[in-house]
Amino acid sequence: MIIIIFPEINLTFMKYLYVCIALCIATNMGFGQGKDRASLDPEVTEVWEPIPPKVNIVNGVPSDAQVLFDGSDFSNWIGINGGDVQWDLVGDAMTVKLGTGGITTRDSFGDFQLHIEWASPEVITGEGQGRGNSGIFLQNRYEVQVLDSYESRTYSNGQASAIYKQAIPLVNACKPPGEWQTYDIIYTAPRFNDNGRKISNAKVTVLHNGVVTLNDFEIWGTTQYKGLPSNEPHGDAPITLQDHSNLVKYRNIWIRRM
Ligand code: MG
Repeated sequence: MIIIIFPEINLTFMKYLYVCIALCIATNMGFGQGKDRASLDPEVTEVWEPIPPKVNIVNGVPSDAQVLFDGSDFSNWIGINGGDVQWDLVGDAMTVKLGTGGITTRDSFGDFQLHIEWASPEVITGEGQGRGNSGIFLQNRYEVQVLDSYESRTYSNGQASAIYKQAIPLVNACKPPGEWQTYDIIYTAPRFNDNGRKISNAKVTVLHNGVVTLNDFEIWGTTQYKGLPSNEPHGDAPITLQDHSNLVKYRNIWIRRM
């Protein structure tokens, strides 16, 4: 009777009925219980779109990377106080110039993959936090420690590749002073809601000389020398390299936005 009087309702009803019947058949066949999953045609689980963009590697640098420093100049950097970079440029590397302050990228970044190479001074001076100290501040706030930790003890959450005073590296992969070392840093920025409240922590994975030293660590907030982390809301922000009064060198810096 309903079919004759309300054909449009009947159409909706019939669709609903077909879906119910299909679900019943699928359930009875065991799809919902994990049975016979291996018997599906292989094409059912193939996904063809989107197609990942092709990236070529040229001299170790992915073709979609933004080169921040290749030894030629400081065009992608400014002094931390806004002026020109005062650090020394020698060969393909830059060296901290004592007392001139840190340097920071002109551009800002959110989520990224960062490659950076550094070397602590070949001539050893100082101990602990005073030996080859610099740092890479992700989004200008979260420090991945740079330090000569080869044969020099300090607090574990302050040694090379630590998130300063927050994360202890899984291993000490430090090379001897004077030797070039690599950091590959995969970083997800924190998220804040419209009220400025943090809804997810920043996350970081660090490879030191190709060895995983931090695996998806959730950063608590700013990395403080004194006191506890803070969590003021922020958007994209620069990468900053620290002048900690040691002659640390950097070279071959590139970044990929994600
Ligand atoms: Mg430091």
